[in-house]
Amino acid sequence: MKKISLMGATGSIGTQTLDVIREHPHDFKLIALSVGRNINEARKMIAEFTPSLVSVQRKEDAETLKSDMPAGVKVMYGEEGLIEVACHQDADILVNAVLGSVGLNPTLQAIESGKTIAIANKETLVTAGHIVMEAARRKGVSLLPVDSEHSAIFQALQGEQDKNIEKLIITASGGSFRDRTREELVGVTVKEALNHPNWSMGAKITIDSASMMNKGLEVIEAHWLFNIPYDKIDVLQHRESIIHSMIQFHDTSVMAQLGTPDMRVPIQYALTYPDRFERPRAKRLDLAEIGLLHFEKMDMDRFRCLRFAYEAGRMGGSMTTVLNAANEAAVALFLEDKISFLAIEDMIERALNEHEVIQNPDLDTIREIDERTRLAISQWVG
Ligand code: NDP
Ligand code: MG
Repeated sequence: MKKISLMGATGSIGTQTLDVIREHPHDFKLIALSVGRNINEARKMIAEFTPSLVSVQRKEDAETLKSDMPAGVKVMYGEEGLIEVACHQDADILVNAVLGSVGLNPTLQAIESGKTIAIANKETLVTAGHIVMEAARRKGVSLLPVDSEHSAIFQALQGEQDKNIEKLIITASGGSFRDRTREELVGVTVKEALNHPNWSMGAKITIDSASMMNKGLEVIEAHWLFNIPYDKIDVLQHRESIIHSMIQFHDTSVMAQLGTPDMRVPIQYALTYPDRFERPRAKRLDLAEIGLLHFEKMDMDRFRCLRFAYEAGRMGGSMTTVLNAANEAAVALFLEDKISFLAIEDMIERALNEHEVIQNPDLDTIREIDERTRLAISQWVG
C-alpha cells in the first residue's frame, strides 16, 4: 500500500490523481491533501478518502472547515499547511499538483524530508530549477515527471543511458489558436482561449497552451529534469497529441511514447514507477481509427512566448523566474478580462527586457524577484 499526499487536490491534475487512487483502492491510500479555495469539494474528498491532514489556502476557510470535521482530521492553512502536506511523515510519495510558484517552498521542504515527488507543478522548476535539482541530487530524492511530455521522455529513457541522447523532441498540440495568424488573435475572448482541442485542463495551463508559453515552460522543465542543454531540446507541432514526446539518440534511433491524451496515464506511471498497473476500463490507442498523424515545424515568430522561454532559459539565473512570474500575473489578468490575449506576451517581453539577470539567485532573491515582477505587471495595468 503506497501512502500518498496530494497538493492541489481540487485541480485538474488533483482530481485525476484521485481517479487513479479510486481505481486502485488496495494499492493507494490518500493520507493528506491540500486545496486552494474550493472547500466544498474538499469536504467531499475528506468524506471519501478520510485523510488525516487537510490544508486550505485561507485562514477563514480553515476555521469554517474545522467546525464540521470528523475527529482525527487536522486542518491547516497557507504556506505552513502546504508544507505540512508536502512533508507528511507517513507519505511514501508527494503528488505536487498545485498551480504556480507557490509550490516552490513546499517542494524544497519535501525534498529536505526525503520524499519522492511526482511533480506536475512545472512553475516550480521554471522559477528555481537550479535550487530544486541541486537539493534533489544532494538528498538523493527522485522527481518523477507527471507532465505528459516529460513522462514520455522518462518512459522512453528506461534502460537507456543519458550520454547517448542527441536531442529531446517535445511535441506540442498547438493549443486553441493553432490555426490562427497573429492578426487573427486580436480581440480573442477568454472563452475562445479556454477551448483546447485535445486536453481538458485547468484554466491557466489552457491559456499557456494557447499562447505556447506552456511549451516554453516545458522546455525549461525538461532542461532541469533531464539535465539537457537548450540546444538539444526541440519542439515539434503535432496536432493529434498522440506522440507525447520523443528522444533521438546518437545512432539516429528515435524512441517515442504514444497513447490517447489522458493525464491519468502519466499520473499513474509516476505513482507506480518502475512498475505499471492495469487500467482495464481506459480507452486504448487505435491508430487505424486515427489514421493520420501530422507534424509541423514551430514558428518562433508566430509563437513569441516559446521564443521568450528559450531566450530566458539560455540566459539562465533569475531570467526564468521573471518569465514565470510575468506569465502567471499576465495570464491571471487575461482570465479576469483586464488585458487582451496579445498583451500577455507584451507584458512578458517588457518584464524580461527590464530585468538585469542575476546568476545563481538564492531562494530569497527568487522570492523577491517573483514578487517584484508581479507588482510591476499590476502597476502597468493600473
Ligand atoms: P488547476 O487550476 O486545475 O488546479 C490548481 C490546484 O492548485 C487547485 O487545487 C487549486 O485549488 C490549487 N491552488 C491554486 N492556487 C493555490 C494557492 N495559492 N495555494 C494553495 N493552493 C492553490 O491546475 P491544473 O491541475 O491544470 O495544473 C496544476 C499544475 O499541473 C500546473 O503547474 C500545471 O502546469 C501542471 N500540469 C497540468 C496539466 C493538466 O492536464 N491540467 C498537464 C501537465 C501539467 P482550488 O481550486 O481549490 O482553489
Ligand atoms: Mg504537458
